[in-house]
Amino acid sequence: MKRVLIAEDEAAIREFEVINLERSGYEVVETDTGEKALEMFDCYNGDFDLAVLDIMLPGIDGIKVCKELRRKSSTIGIILLTAKTQEIDKISGLMFGADDYITKPFSPSELVARVDALYRRVALNMMRLENKFKEEIKFGEFVLNLRNRALKKRGKIIELTQVEFQIMEYFFSNPGTVLSRSQIFHQVWGKSRTGEEKIVDVNIRRLRMKIEDDPSLPKHIITVWGMGYKWEN
Ligand code: CA
Repeated sequence: MKRVLIAEDEAAIREFEVINLERSGYEVVETDTGEKALEMFDCYNGDFDLAVLDIMLPGIDGIKVCKELRRKSSTIGIILLTAKTQEIDKISGLMFGADDYITKPFSPSELVARVDALYRRVALNMMRLENKFKEEIKFGEFVLNLRNRALKKRGKIIELTQVEFQIMEYFFSNPGTVLSRSQIFHQVWGKSRTGEEKIVDVNIRRLRMKIEDDPSLPKHIITVWGMGYKWEN
């Protein structure tokens, strides 16, 4: 579950955030003061992916909440909400551990796009952190060894390039989940580039040649038309 903590004292804006984020698949915990936000964070044992904090709050402000949350968690994604006149807050907020900010007023699509983008970053970091402590990932007849970066199928080693290994690691960390070409591209290459979809397709084709029994009828790397690819066992 993607869980987000909201601190916003204006009920109408808070409701707007809650409705739009819930509609986009987030579990939302809403609070109207900074104190309560910190309380809720502890109540859930810090189990939040993201926090959306208004800067102007009664009592402790959003910047202080941000600093405190960052002190408690290095992985949580934090977005600050700022009114246009708060330029200085904006800058100092970013220095105190926020990942992004949104200027009020904002549209539902802007809110959701920013939150989604940050969530993807947070989830990716978490995945990398988790994989760091794992020796290998097993799926059916496949074993991906994360230490020596090797893939085995039915005990036989399949030689992978660096890029192919990273794509497999991404698939194995998100089994059954549709991954878009641009998600795969960002995961493996890190930056945007033109022609990114083609580069992904080329590598997927090569991977299929290596791992599928019949590359023309793939059973593991499945094409989801109009969306991307997913790993199936
Ligand atoms: Ca406010």
